[in-house]
Amino acid sequence: MKSHVQVAVIGGGVVGASVLYHLARAGWTDVVLIERDELTSGSTWHAAGGMHTLNGDPNVAKLQKYTIELYKEIEEASGQSCSIHITAGVDLAGTPERMDFLKLACARARYLGLGMEIISVDEAARIFPIMDKRHFVGALYNPLEGHVDPSGVTHAYVKAARNLGAEVYRFTRVTGTKPRPDGSWEVTSDKGNLVAEHVVNAGGLWAREVGRFAGLELPILAMEHQYLITGEIPEVVASQKEVLHAIDFEGEIYMRQEGKGMLIGTYEKGGVPWSPRETPWNFTHELLPPDLDRIADSLEVGFRHFPALERAGIKRVVNGPFTFAPDGNPVVGPIRGLRNYWVACGVMAGFSQGGGVGLALSNWMIHGDPGFDVWAMDVARFGDWATMAYTNAKVRENYSRRFRIRFPNEELAAARPLRMTPIYDRLKARGAVFGSAFGLEHALWFAPEGVEPREDVTYRRSNAHAHVGDECRAVRNAVGLLETSSFSKYEVTGDGAGAWLERILANRLPREGRLTLSPMLNADGKLIGDFTVANAGRGRYFVFGSGVAEQYHLRWFESHLPPSGVAIRALRTEMLGLGLSGPKARELLSRLTGDDVSNAALPFLSFRAMDVAMLPAHVGRISFTGELGYEIWTPADCQLALYESILAAGADLGLRHFGARTLNSLRLEKSFGNWAREYRPIYTPAEAGLDRFVDVSKADFVGRDAVLRDRAQGPARRLVTFVVDATEADAIGDEPVWHDGKVVGWITSGGYGHCVGRSLALGYIPAPLSTDTSGFEIEILGERRPAALALQPLHDPAGERMRRS
Ligand SMILES: Cc1cc2nc3c(=O)[nH]c(=O)nc-3n(C[C@H](O)[C@H](O)[C@H](O)COP(=O)(O)OP(=O)(O)OC[C@H]3O[C@@H](n4cnc5c(N)ncnc54)[C@H](O)[C@@H]3O)c2cc1C
Repeated sequence: MKSHVQVAVIGGGVVGASVLYHLARAGWTDVVLIERDELTSGSTWHAAGGMHTLNGDPNVAKLQKYTIELYKEIEEASGQSCSIHITAGVDLAGTPERMDFLKLACARARYLGLGMEIISVDEAARIFPIMDKRHFVGALYNPLEGHVDPSGVTHAYVKAARNLGAEVYRFTRVTGTKPRPDGSWEVTSDKGNLVAEHVVNAGGLWAREVGRFAGLELPILAMEHQYLITGEIPEVVASQKEVLHAIDFEGEIYMRQEGKGMLIGTYEKGGVPWSPRETPWNFTHELLPPDLDRIADSLEVGFRHFPALERAGIKRVVNGPFTFAPDGNPVVGPIRGLRNYWVACGVMAGFSQGGGVGLALSNWMIHGDPGFDVWAMDVARFGDWATMAYTNAKVRENYSRRFRIRFPNEELAAARPLRMTPIYDRLKARGAVFGSAFGLEHALWFAPEGVEPREDVTYRRSNAHAHVGDECRAVRNAVGLLETSSFSKYEVTGDGAGAWLERILANRLPREGRLTLSPMLNADGKLIGDFTVANAGRGRYFVFGSGVAEQYHLRWFESHLPPSGVAIRALRTEMLGLGLSGPKARELLSRLTGDDVSNAALPFLSFRAMDVAMLPAHVGRISFTGELGYEIWTPADCQLALYESILAAGADLGLRHFGARTLNSLRLEKSFGNWAREYRPIYTPAEAGLDRFVDVSKADFVGRDAVLRDRAQGPARRLVTFVVDATEADAIGDEPVWHDGKVVGWITSGGYGHCVGRSLALGYIPAPLSTDTSGFEIEILGERRPAALALQPLHDPAGERMRRS
């Protein structure tokens, strides 16, 4: 064993092997992989080896494509066969809703270059003859589906890495990881110790235990998973070609050819966690006892839908555990607060995702950035609220829903309510229908008296549509009240606070008592945050941003802090917010405070400490609705009193509660982008229309050089607004944008603009097309709907209402 290495990868499953290969391929060859037993001895060896490109997140779908296409490369680099079978696949729909789901996946695949096709039941039955077509209404054909040999793939990665200089220590169990003052790690094992500049936790089934060596509790849990192999099937034997992969969503089963029969796996509703608290170290190349009763319901449906399976009988059953994160996507990246510690775990589809995870992580380690948008698998999407019990509830929910549709307006029920603000019960009593973001409950819309506070899940406009419309009109015509607590907020203090913020943010800091909007960029000039910055005076700043990105941003902030002179603190739910928005917002605020809130005293983008309803508050004059608006921030223990005072003072002004659905409609009418939708690390500020908030006259800030280069070239694409000729289904995001018969871009978000009476969508298209107003179509649920490009926001393009005096 070496005594000092650049990287120690812990875990020789498919994921650790891929990380090792990608590091070595990129030139980091002083890397070792440490495996407790034989390679593949966690969940990898008993996997079915299936792979596909279907994923709810387009960026993860792209990584799945990369993974599948990588197998040829590693076969060549290693001389080790991966036994690649690209059979193509049919995903079968048994209901019209499922057909909608497949149409969306197919449309999205167009701009991702995945080449999927919607096919008829007859066509599906022609290419997948063992199905009984009476149970289906249509299908999605996916050319990039198939399977590989799990052991072959893992060994191919490792051999290819070894050929580049990497080393592998098998039968060596890591027993501890300890940080050293210089940022490196002491890795102890039962065969000796080494010092590693970087540690990668790719411990798979034991990733939690390996994490605990470093004081981490990772949000992952293993579930038991069963597949079975049938006896000989005459149709399979007679088939000229290898039988296609198939998913039967209604039966919750997937299948592929195995020998002369089929392999059938299930994601049953009553999934069972395995070793929920601790994974035994002596579990190696073992399977769990089969439990056919648990999957009997799925099998029954499967046998009905594919009668040949029942006739063939079951030859063998495999029950093995593998890990999941609460949302089913991998858990990858650097850990906030642990220098040079990286995770690559919770990978539930190692043969579709392992290559992409290895590529992203190796880029991140070597270049400080994953190189593409990996938000959907970034470990930072979870906070400390993702406890073991939360993870358990969510993973079980996710497993049981693996083949169920997640509708765009659907809020999943498990582990809720988790985090709540003091007014939660009050909002509930007012008919709030809640969503959850970063574990925190927030109102989506309010059911008026007599209406049940429940939303139908659908791809089309829901029963909330009319009520959201009423909320929108109340904001535009009178005044609305929105809880803004789900924003993230950070307090930045210290002698160096201003200078540090100037360096880390792209816009100039506001003067005392003022607010500015500021993007945050990485060194490549890509958007990694968009914030409202408030200067509270005396070297104290508040930074407001997206709630879901709190850990993501803190990780960046903290890793860029100087050794002294600046302190940053997430205020989480210590400081809570209520927003007033609408033409009567000033009148309402003036009733609650003795301070002068006239336009002269408190103009647009002001920020002041003042007493509101006798409570200590900070008030920012800003709104995301496009109306005159104020955000009132108070300590958490004052929120309830503030809320009650606002209600009492606003009753005769037509005050109405509004929620996130309304905010979305109003901001679309203003063409305002949103973090994680329009603003993501794949876009530059010029592309996103945020260039005016980047001040290159500042001598130095992160990303400045890249911005200057970018400005010289001009943006490749642009964020634009479309008015869509939609009827009962609006764009939701991820639809392709067509122009003159070709797919030229994608939608980032959409919805109905209730006050302008039009269906709206925001999306990216090539910059040269962004001045064309016609010739566009947006594919919604399989139909190309005509769309007109709007050259300016539909509501109040000059922004006079926000600045209203
Ligand atoms: C029945 C079944 C069917 C499946 N079918 C598919 C499929 O069709 N397609 C698909 O993509 N995925 C499938 N999977 C999932 C797939 O197996 C996983 O996604 C994949 O194996 C995850 O790999 P990993 O490297 O993260 O974890 P693991 O395979 O668990 O590897 C982790 C490795 O780390 C080692 N390790 C842990 N702790 C230490 C330590 N302290 N010191 C040294 N070494 C350590 C372990 O020994 C182990 O070898 C299936 C899983 C099961 C159970």
